[in-house]
Amino acid sequence: MASTSKEMTLDDLFLDTLKDIYYAEKQIVKALPKMAKAAQDPNLKAGFEKHRDETDGHIERLEQVFELIGKPARGKTCDAILGILEEGKSIIEDYKGTITLDAGLIAAAQAVEHYEMARYGTLRTWAQQLGYREAAKLLETTLLEERATDQTLTKLAEAGGDNAKAAA
Ligand code: FE
Ligand code: FE
Repeated sequence: MASTSKEMTLDDLFLDTLKDIYYAEKQIVKALPKMAKAAQDPNLKAGFEKHRDETDGHIERLEQVFELIGKPARGKTCDAILGILEEGKSIIEDYKGTITLDAGLIAAAQAVEHYEMARYGTLRTWAQQLGYREAAKLLETTLLEERATDQTLTKLAEAGGDNAKAAA
């Protein structure tokens, strides 16, 4: 290791990860209207629209966290979310006009929510460890909304399975 390199701290990791999820949320807020438009089940459509609005709040909370730690709100390209959203796009294209489309949309959306839950859980814990109590609370609030969305999607997936069975 070069002795001149700056030692990276948990503070650096916290900021880098904050930038990652900030970038991800800005991509997600653009993808959700497309998923709402593609959804066939009106409940799924409404769920995507509701979460689009919640996602605006997630972006605002992240901006508050940046402010609390005295850093400018900046994103950093997140290849993981780009890949997950790309998969969602493929499902919309490949399953267009089929009764299986909604199941695919739910699966794609749950991959997004799980990525967010992983990030917010980690960031909340690091914020607590770093003594950023206010930031930890904001991150926890968003984590709970992501988790609730994931649970709603699970319920819709189960109801969709029942409908498919009824139709068979
Ligand atoms: Fe979010
Ligand atoms: Fe989300």
